[in-house]
Amino acid sequence: MLPPYVKIVEVGARDGLQNEARALSVASRVEFIRLLGETGVRAIEVGSFTSAKRVPQMVGSGEVLKSIQRNNGVGYPVLVPNLRGLEDACAAGATEIAVFAAASETFSQHNLRCDIAASLERFAVVIERAHAADIRVRGYVSCALGCPYQGAVPSAEVARVAALLYNFGCYEISLGDTIGVGTPRQAQAMLERVAADIPLEKLAVHFHDTYGQALANIYAVLQLGVQVVDSSVAGLGGCPYAPGASGNVATEDVAYLLHGLGLHSGINMPQLLRAGDYICKQLGRRNHSKVAAAWSNRKPLQ
Ligand code: MG
Repeated sequence: MLPPYVKIVEVGARDGLQNEARALSVASRVEFIRLLGETGVRAIEVGSFTSAKRVPQMVGSGEVLKSIQRNNGVGYPVLVPNLRGLEDACAAGATEIAVFAAASETFSQHNLRCDIAASLERFAVVIERAHAADIRVRGYVSCALGCPYQGAVPSAEVARVAALLYNFGCYEISLGDTIGVGTPRQAQAMLERVAADIPLEKLAVHFHDTYGQALANIYAVLQLGVQVVDSSVAGLGGCPYAPGASGNVATEDVAYLLHGLGLHSGINMPQLLRAGDYICKQLGRRNHSKVAAAWSNRKPLQ
């Protein structure tokens, strides 16, 4: 059964920009987030407190967080990899953070430089401290439908990692198809397995369009009742494991799908297109949203 309202979590200013070649200034990122705030989205990822060496695009995330104008009822999470990141996020006035674990052991080793168990131990402490500081925590599980190093990832493992993050106190768990290999039936099967341990309304999906399956996957899991979808305006962000490939599903395309299904998202399409247009000009790249391309070139019906 389709949910009446779907919350979109706009990840373009973090997950999107950190995978773009050109690093933008703090001022451009603040303006981008201001424009996103006018689209009606209820959650905007703002930045990341990871190593400047590994993710130079996210340098200055503290300044971004301090400079943005916050709208009532909108969450502004920042990604935090460890206690040091949490301290920096707190100092910049974070009210929400996101932590990330992998469902694949090899991916965890490559991306977090430790095994899954060690990363979860670290995050348990981060989450506890965040809660003590009245900061809410969102959890990401990457490689939920496949891993660039080991291939298939069992849904039971996704469910295990997701349940641990949930039990540590994450208010929502976003299940990420990091390399965008999943197809609708796989997505449904994975979701059903994870939802056996965690209430469905606490789960979000994070699809990449690497193989053109993102919208199909979203439609498939909406039918199971999923109510939260991560997306990135203009399809910002590529895939680090497949240079040149598409990255995050575009928010414009997700909003068009939702509205076509008669579902509410709170999104104002013209404002969303404006935000996409702005950021593409800043990055000097084309807009990867099909809806944005169609909308900007449309002619009146004869
Ligand atoms: Mg992503």
